[in-house]
Amino acid sequence: MIPLARPLIGARERAAVLDVLDSGQLAQGPRVATFEHAFATLCGVQHAVAVSSGTAALHTALAALGIGPGDEVVTTPFTFVATANAILMQGATPRFADIEPETFTLDPAAVEQAITARTKAILAVDLFGHPYLRELDELAQRHGIPLIEDACQAVGAHRDGVPAGALGTLAAFSFYATKNMTTGEGGMLTTSDEQLADRARRFRHHGQSARYTYESMGYNYRMTDLQAALGLVQLEQLSAWNEQRRTNARALTAALSGLPGIVLPREREGARHVYHQYTIRVTAGQAIRDAIQRYLAEHGVTTAVFYPRPLHLQPHFVSLGYQEGAFPEAERAAQEVLSLPVHPALTPDDLHTITSVFRQAMEECA
Ligand SMILES: *Cc1c(COP(=O)(O)O)cnc(C)c1O
Repeated sequence: MIPLARPLIGARERAAVLDVLDSGQLAQGPRVATFEHAFATLCGVQHAVAVSSGTAALHTALAALGIGPGDEVVTTPFTFVATANAILMQGATPRFADIEPETFTLDPAAVEQAITARTKAILAVDLFGHPYLRELDELAQRHGIPLIEDACQAVGAHRDGVPAGALGTLAAFSFYATKNMTTGEGGMLTTSDEQLADRARRFRHHGQSARYTYESMGYNYRMTDLQAALGLVQLEQLSAWNEQRRTNARALTAALSGLPGIVLPREREGARHVYHQYTIRVTAGQAIRDAIQRYLAEHGVTTAVFYPRPLHLQPHFVSLGYQEGAFPEAERAAQEVLSLPVHPALTPDDLHTITSVFRQAMEECA
Protein backbone atom coordinates (compact mmCIF):
# COMPACT_ATOMS: atom_id res chain seq x y z
CA MET A 1 0.00 0.00 0.00
CA ILE A 2 1.43 3.41 -0.96
CA PRO A 3 0.79 5.67 2.05
CA LEU A 4 -0.39 9.29 1.83
CA ALA A 5 2.38 10.46 4.17
CA ARG A 6 5.43 8.97 5.76
CA PRO A 7 7.61 10.67 8.40
CA LEU A 8 11.28 10.46 7.39
CA ILE A 9 13.33 9.65 10.48
CA GLY A 10 16.98 8.72 9.93
CA ALA A 11 20.08 7.90 11.94
CA ARG A 12 20.81 11.60 12.59
CA GLU A 13 17.37 12.18 14.08
CA ARG A 14 17.85 9.14 16.34
CA ALA A 15 21.29 10.32 17.45
CA ALA A 16 20.05 13.86 18.12
CA VAL A 17 17.20 12.62 20.32
CA LEU A 18 19.49 10.21 22.21
CA ASP A 19 21.88 13.12 22.85
CA VAL A 20 19.07 15.04 24.51
CA LEU A 21 18.11 12.03 26.62
CA ASP A 22 21.73 11.76 27.78
CA SER A 23 22.00 15.51 28.45
CA GLY A 24 19.48 15.49 31.30
CA GLN A 25 17.81 18.62 29.82
CA LEU A 26 14.53 17.27 28.50
CA ALA A 27 12.13 20.22 28.67
CA GLN A 28 12.56 23.59 26.92
CA GLY A 29 16.28 24.37 26.87
CA PRO A 30 19.18 25.28 24.58
CA ARG A 31 18.03 23.16 21.65
CA VAL A 32 14.71 24.97 21.53
CA ALA A 33 16.60 28.28 21.35
CA THR A 34 18.81 26.98 18.53
CA PHE A 35 15.79 25.62 16.66
CA GLU A 36 14.03 28.98 17.00
CA HIS A 37 17.02 30.82 15.55
CA ALA A 38 17.35 28.44 12.63
CA PHE A 39 13.61 28.63 11.93
CA ALA A 40 13.55 32.44 12.08
CA THR A 41 16.36 32.46 9.51
CA LEU A 42 14.43 30.09 7.23
CA CYS A 43 11.41 32.41 7.34
CA GLY A 44 13.34 35.66 7.18
CA VAL A 45 11.74 36.99 10.39
CA GLN A 46 13.14 38.50 13.59
CA HIS A 47 11.46 36.10 16.01
CA ALA A 48 10.40 32.48 16.13
CA VAL A 49 8.68 31.12 19.25
CA ALA A 50 8.55 27.34 19.54
CA VAL A 51 5.36 25.85 20.98
CA SER A 52 3.79 22.45 21.51
CA SER A 53 1.61 22.31 18.36
CA GLY A 54 0.33 24.24 15.37
CA THR A 55 -2.93 24.77 17.24
CA ALA A 56 -0.99 26.28 20.16
CA ALA A 57 0.85 28.55 17.69
CA LEU A 58 -2.46 29.81 16.25
CA HIS A 59 -3.95 30.33 19.71
CA THR A 60 -0.81 32.15 20.85
CA ALA A 61 -0.89 34.41 17.76
CA LEU A 62 -4.48 35.46 18.47
CA ALA A 63 -3.72 36.01 22.16
CA ALA A 64 -0.61 38.08 21.34
CA LEU A 65 -2.80 40.37 19.21
CA GLY A 66 -5.18 40.78 22.17
CA ILE A 67 -8.13 39.29 20.29
CA GLY A 68 -10.97 38.36 22.64
CA PRO A 69 -14.75 38.27 23.23
CA GLY A 70 -16.73 40.52 20.90
CA ASP A 71 -14.00 40.48 18.26
CA GLU A 72 -14.39 38.85 14.86
CA VAL A 73 -11.73 37.11 12.82
CA VAL A 74 -12.34 36.43 9.12
CA THR A 75 -11.18 33.00 8.02
CA THR A 76 -11.88 30.14 5.62
CA PRO A 77 -14.41 27.35 6.18
CA PHE A 78 -12.27 25.05 4.00
CA THR A 79 -9.50 24.12 6.43
CA PHE A 80 -8.63 21.91 9.36
CA VAL A 81 -10.78 22.66 12.42
CA ALA A 82 -7.84 24.01 14.45
CA THR A 83 -7.82 27.21 12.36
CA ALA A 84 -11.29 28.22 13.56
CA ASN A 85 -10.98 26.64 17.02
CA ALA A 86 -8.05 28.94 17.82
CA ILE A 87 -10.44 31.89 17.36
CA LEU A 88 -13.00 30.27 19.69
CA MET A 89 -10.28 29.56 22.28
CA GLN A 90 -9.89 33.33 22.69
CA GLY A 91 -13.66 33.77 23.00
CA ALA A 92 -13.77 35.58 19.65
CA THR A 93 -16.08 34.81 16.70
CA PRO A 94 -15.01 33.24 13.40
CA ARG A 95 -16.55 34.89 10.34
CA PHE A 96 -16.15 32.68 7.33
CA ALA A 97 -15.48 33.83 3.77
CA ASP A 98 -15.55 31.64 0.67
CA ILE A 99 -12.49 30.29 -1.13
CA GLU A 100 -10.97 31.00 -4.53
CA PRO A 101 -11.48 27.77 -6.51
CA GLU A 102 -8.06 27.40 -8.16
CA THR A 103 -5.87 27.54 -5.03
CA PHE A 104 -8.53 26.59 -2.42
CA THR A 105 -7.31 29.57 -0.34
CA LEU A 106 -9.39 32.55 0.85
CA ASP A 107 -11.01 34.63 -1.90
CA PRO A 108 -9.93 38.25 -1.25
CA ALA A 109 -13.23 39.64 -2.59
CA ALA A 110 -15.19 37.40 -0.22
CA VAL A 111 -12.96 38.44 2.69
CA GLU A 112 -13.65 42.09 1.93
CA GLN A 113 -17.41 41.39 2.11
CA ALA A 114 -17.02 39.65 5.48
CA ILE A 115 -15.12 42.49 7.17
CA THR A 116 -17.17 44.45 9.72
CA ALA A 117 -16.43 47.07 12.37
CA ARG A 118 -15.68 44.20 14.76
CA THR A 119 -13.10 42.51 12.53
CA LYS A 120 -9.79 42.40 14.40
CA ALA A 121 -7.78 40.14 12.07
CA ILE A 122 -7.77 38.02 8.93
CA LEU A 123 -6.64 34.43 9.47
CA ALA A 124 -5.49 33.14 6.07
CA VAL A 125 -4.49 29.53 5.46
CA ASP A 126 -1.73 28.49 3.03
CA LEU A 127 -3.81 25.44 2.16
CA PHE A 128 -2.10 22.32 0.86
CA GLY A 129 1.21 24.26 0.81
CA HIS A 130 0.15 27.11 -1.52
CA PRO A 131 0.61 30.60 -0.06
CA TYR A 132 -2.56 32.67 0.44
CA LEU A 133 -3.26 35.22 -2.31
CA ARG A 134 -1.32 38.50 -2.39
CA GLU A 135 -4.48 40.67 -2.69
CA LEU A 136 -5.18 39.83 0.98
CA ASP A 137 -2.08 41.72 2.10
CA GLU A 138 -3.28 44.86 0.38
CA LEU A 139 -6.78 44.34 1.85
CA ALA A 140 -5.46 43.91 5.41
CA GLN A 141 -3.37 47.05 5.02
CA ARG A 142 -6.23 49.09 3.64
CA HIS A 143 -8.42 48.08 6.61
CA GLY A 144 -5.57 48.50 9.09
CA ILE A 145 -5.98 44.99 10.50
CA PRO A 146 -3.31 42.34 11.09
CA LEU A 147 -3.12 39.22 8.97
CA ILE A 148 -2.32 35.94 10.71
CA GLU A 149 -0.92 33.30 8.40
CA ASP A 150 -1.86 29.69 9.13
CA ALA A 151 1.27 28.26 7.49
CA CYS A 152 0.87 24.85 9.15
CA GLN A 153 0.94 23.15 5.73
CA ALA A 154 3.39 25.52 4.05
CA VAL A 155 6.81 25.39 5.69
CA GLY A 156 9.33 26.40 2.99
CA ALA A 157 6.74 27.95 0.64
CA HIS A 158 7.06 31.51 -0.57
CA ARG A 159 5.29 34.16 -2.59
CA ASP A 160 7.03 36.90 -4.60
CA GLY A 161 10.26 35.92 -2.86
CA VAL A 162 8.79 36.30 0.65
CA PRO A 163 8.82 33.08 2.70
CA ALA A 164 5.73 31.66 4.39
CA GLY A 165 6.01 32.85 7.97
CA ALA A 166 6.92 36.38 6.87
CA LEU A 167 3.88 37.14 4.70
CA GLY A 168 1.59 38.44 7.46
CA THR A 169 1.95 40.02 10.91
CA LEU A 170 2.27 36.65 12.60
CA ALA A 171 2.36 33.08 11.34
CA ALA A 172 1.75 29.62 12.78
CA PHE A 173 3.48 26.39 11.75
CA SER A 174 2.84 22.76 12.70
CA PHE A 175 5.36 19.95 13.03
CA TYR A 176 2.77 17.20 13.36
CA ALA A 177 3.95 13.81 12.09
CA THR A 178 2.42 14.12 8.59
CA LYS A 179 3.56 17.70 7.87
CA ASN A 180 6.46 18.56 5.52
CA MET A 181 8.82 18.39 8.51
CA THR A 182 8.04 16.93 11.91
CA THR A 183 8.90 16.90 15.58
CA GLY A 184 6.16 14.32 16.32
CA GLU A 185 3.97 17.09 17.68
CA GLY A 186 5.11 20.69 17.76
CA GLY A 187 4.62 24.16 16.38
CA MET A 188 6.22 27.55 15.79
CA LEU A 189 5.02 31.12 15.79
CA THR A 190 6.94 33.63 13.66
CA THR A 191 6.82 37.43 13.61
CA SER A 192 9.10 40.41 13.12
CA ASP A 193 7.24 42.42 15.78
CA GLU A 194 9.20 42.32 19.03
CA GLN A 195 6.26 43.18 21.27
CA LEU A 196 4.12 40.41 19.77
CA ALA A 197 7.02 37.96 20.16
CA ASP A 198 7.41 38.91 23.84
CA ARG A 199 3.69 38.38 24.44
CA ALA A 200 3.85 35.04 22.64
CA ARG A 201 6.79 33.87 24.78
CA ARG A 202 4.87 34.84 27.93
CA PHE A 203 1.69 33.17 26.74
CA ARG A 204 3.41 29.82 26.16
CA HIS A 205 4.81 29.90 29.70
CA HIS A 206 1.90 30.70 32.07
CA GLY A 207 2.06 34.43 31.37
CA GLN A 208 5.35 34.78 33.23
CA SER A 209 7.41 37.90 32.49
CA ALA A 210 10.06 36.82 35.01
CA ARG A 211 10.32 33.78 37.22
CA TYR A 212 7.13 33.60 39.32
CA THR A 213 5.92 36.97 38.09
CA TYR A 214 2.63 36.36 36.36
CA GLU A 215 1.94 39.22 34.01
CA SER A 216 -1.01 37.89 32.05
CA MET A 217 -3.00 34.79 31.12
CA GLY A 218 -0.91 31.95 29.78
CA TYR A 219 -0.72 28.23 29.14
CA ASN A 220 1.90 25.54 29.13
CA TYR A 221 2.55 25.53 25.37
CA ARG A 222 6.29 24.86 25.60
CA MET A 223 8.23 22.66 23.22
CA THR A 224 10.71 20.12 24.61
CA ASP A 225 14.40 19.92 23.72
CA LEU A 226 13.67 16.40 22.45
CA GLN A 227 11.33 17.85 19.82
CA ALA A 228 13.70 20.71 18.99
CA ALA A 229 16.61 18.30 18.45
CA LEU A 230 14.46 16.37 16.01
CA GLY A 231 13.32 19.60 14.36
CA LEU A 232 16.87 20.87 13.84
CA VAL A 233 17.85 17.75 11.90
CA GLN A 234 14.59 17.83 9.91
CA LEU A 235 15.08 21.50 9.07
CA GLU A 236 18.38 20.76 7.34
CA GLN A 237 16.61 18.37 5.00
CA LEU A 238 13.49 20.44 4.43
CA SER A 239 14.55 22.17 1.26
CA ALA A 240 15.58 18.90 -0.45
CA TRP A 241 12.33 17.26 0.68
CA ASN A 242 10.23 20.17 -0.61
CA GLU A 243 12.11 20.06 -3.94
CA GLN A 244 11.29 16.35 -4.13
CA ARG A 245 7.61 17.08 -3.42
CA ARG A 246 7.65 19.62 -6.27
CA THR A 247 9.36 17.12 -8.57
CA ASN A 248 6.79 14.47 -7.65
CA ALA A 249 3.97 16.96 -8.25
CA ARG A 250 5.35 17.71 -11.72
CA ALA A 251 5.54 13.98 -12.47
CA LEU A 252 1.91 13.45 -11.37
CA THR A 253 0.77 16.45 -13.41
CA ALA A 254 2.67 15.30 -16.52
CA ALA A 255 1.12 11.83 -16.30
CA LEU A 256 -2.45 12.98 -15.55
CA SER A 257 -2.77 16.10 -17.68
CA GLY A 258 -5.29 15.87 -20.48
CA LEU A 259 -7.42 13.35 -18.59
CA PRO A 260 -11.03 14.58 -18.83
CA GLY A 261 -13.10 15.01 -15.66
CA ILE A 262 -10.31 16.16 -13.36
CA VAL A 263 -8.63 19.46 -12.51
CA LEU A 264 -4.98 19.32 -11.47
CA PRO A 265 -3.38 21.63 -8.87
CA ARG A 266 -1.95 24.90 -10.15
CA GLU A 267 0.67 27.25 -8.83
CA ARG A 268 -0.01 30.98 -9.01
CA GLU A 269 2.54 33.16 -10.75
CA GLY A 270 5.11 34.23 -8.15
CA ALA A 271 4.16 31.45 -5.72
CA ARG A 272 6.25 28.49 -4.63
CA HIS A 273 3.87 25.68 -3.69
CA VAL A 274 5.40 23.06 -1.35
CA TYR A 275 2.72 20.40 -2.02
CA HIS A 276 1.92 19.37 1.51
CA GLN A 277 -0.91 17.79 -0.47
CA TYR A 278 -1.31 17.22 -4.19
CA THR A 279 -5.03 17.88 -4.41
CA ILE A 280 -7.05 17.35 -7.57
CA ARG A 281 -10.75 17.85 -8.29
CA VAL A 282 -13.01 15.16 -9.68
CA THR A 283 -15.54 17.40 -11.38
CA ALA A 284 -18.26 14.73 -11.65
CA GLY A 285 -18.76 15.19 -7.91
CA GLN A 286 -18.86 13.28 -4.69
CA ALA A 287 -20.26 9.86 -5.70
CA ILE A 288 -17.73 9.39 -8.52
CA ARG A 289 -14.91 10.88 -6.42
CA ASP A 290 -15.67 8.42 -3.62
CA ALA A 291 -15.81 5.49 -6.07
CA ILE A 292 -12.42 6.48 -7.49
CA GLN A 293 -11.02 6.70 -3.97
CA ARG A 294 -12.30 3.19 -3.17
CA TYR A 295 -10.86 1.80 -6.41
CA LEU A 296 -7.47 3.36 -5.62
CA ALA A 297 -7.52 1.89 -2.10
CA GLU A 298 -8.36 -1.56 -3.47
CA HIS A 299 -5.38 -1.25 -5.82
CA GLY A 300 -2.79 -0.15 -3.28
CA VAL A 301 -2.96 3.65 -3.40
CA THR A 302 -3.95 5.60 -0.28
CA THR A 303 -5.67 8.92 -0.88
CA ALA A 304 -7.61 11.31 1.33
CA VAL A 305 -10.34 13.92 1.18
CA PHE A 306 -9.21 17.19 2.75
CA TYR A 307 -11.84 18.25 3.70
CA PRO A 308 -15.12 16.33 3.31
CA ARG A 309 -17.33 18.89 5.09
CA PRO A 310 -16.61 22.63 5.33
CA LEU A 311 -16.52 24.02 8.87
CA HIS A 312 -19.68 26.13 8.51
CA LEU A 313 -21.71 22.90 8.03
CA GLN A 314 -20.16 21.09 11.02
CA PRO A 315 -22.24 20.53 14.19
CA HIS A 316 -19.60 22.40 16.24
CA PHE A 317 -20.22 25.64 14.29
CA VAL A 318 -24.03 25.51 13.98
CA SER A 319 -24.38 28.35 16.49
CA LEU A 320 -22.66 30.71 14.04
CA GLY A 321 -25.87 30.45 11.98
CA TYR A 322 -24.52 29.61 8.51
CA GLN A 323 -26.74 27.62 6.14
CA GLU A 324 -25.93 25.25 3.32
CA GLY A 325 -25.24 27.34 0.22
CA ALA A 326 -23.50 30.10 2.19
CA PHE A 327 -20.07 29.28 0.70
CA PRO A 328 -20.66 27.51 -2.63
CA GLU A 329 -16.99 27.19 -3.60
CA ALA A 330 -16.02 25.61 -0.27
CA GLU A 331 -19.02 23.27 -0.50
CA ARG A 332 -18.20 22.26 -4.10
CA ALA A 333 -14.53 21.71 -3.19
CA ALA A 334 -15.57 19.40 -0.34
CA GLN A 335 -17.41 17.22 -2.89
CA GLU A 336 -14.69 17.24 -5.54
CA VAL A 337 -11.26 17.17 -3.87
CA LEU A 338 -9.00 14.16 -3.64
CA SER A 339 -5.39 14.25 -2.41
CA LEU A 340 -2.94 11.81 -4.00
CA PRO A 341 0.39 10.78 -2.42
CA VAL A 342 3.17 13.29 -3.25
CA HIS A 343 5.56 12.88 -0.27
CA PRO A 344 9.33 12.69 -0.82
CA ALA A 345 9.61 8.99 0.08
CA LEU A 346 7.74 7.98 -3.11
CA THR A 347 9.83 6.05 -5.64
CA PRO A 348 9.51 6.46 -9.43
CA ASP A 349 7.68 3.11 -9.36
CA ASP A 350 5.23 4.45 -6.77
CA LEU A 351 4.54 7.49 -8.95
CA HIS A 352 3.95 5.25 -11.94
CA THR A 353 1.58 3.06 -9.89
CA ILE A 354 -0.36 6.07 -8.63
CA THR A 355 -0.94 7.53 -12.09
CA SER A 356 -1.65 4.26 -13.91
CA VAL A 357 -4.08 3.05 -11.23
CA PHE A 358 -5.69 6.49 -11.29
CA ARG A 359 -6.24 6.26 -15.06
CA GLN A 360 -7.82 2.81 -14.60
CA ALA A 361 -9.99 4.19 -11.80
CA MET A 362 -11.29 6.96 -14.08
CA GLU A 363 -12.18 4.38 -16.74
CA GLU A 364 -13.91 2.09 -14.24
CA CYS A 365 -15.75 4.70 -12.20
CA ALA A 366 -16.27 7.87 -14.21
C1 LIG B 1 -1.99 20.66 11.02
C2 LIG B 1 -2.77 21.94 10.93
C3 LIG B 1 -3.09 22.70 12.07
C4 LIG B 1 -2.87 22.22 13.47
O1 LIG B 1 -1.60 21.82 13.77
P1 LIG B 1 -1.37 20.80 14.99
O2 LIG B 1 0.12 20.77 15.11
O3 LIG B 1 -1.95 19.48 14.58
O4 LIG B 1 -2.02 21.37 16.19
C5 LIG B 1 -3.74 23.91 11.89
N1 LIG B 1 -4.06 24.36 10.68
C6 LIG B 1 -3.80 23.65 9.56
C7 LIG B 1 -4.19 24.22 8.24
C8 LIG B 1 -3.16 22.42 9.66
O5 LIG B 1 -2.93 21.71 8.55
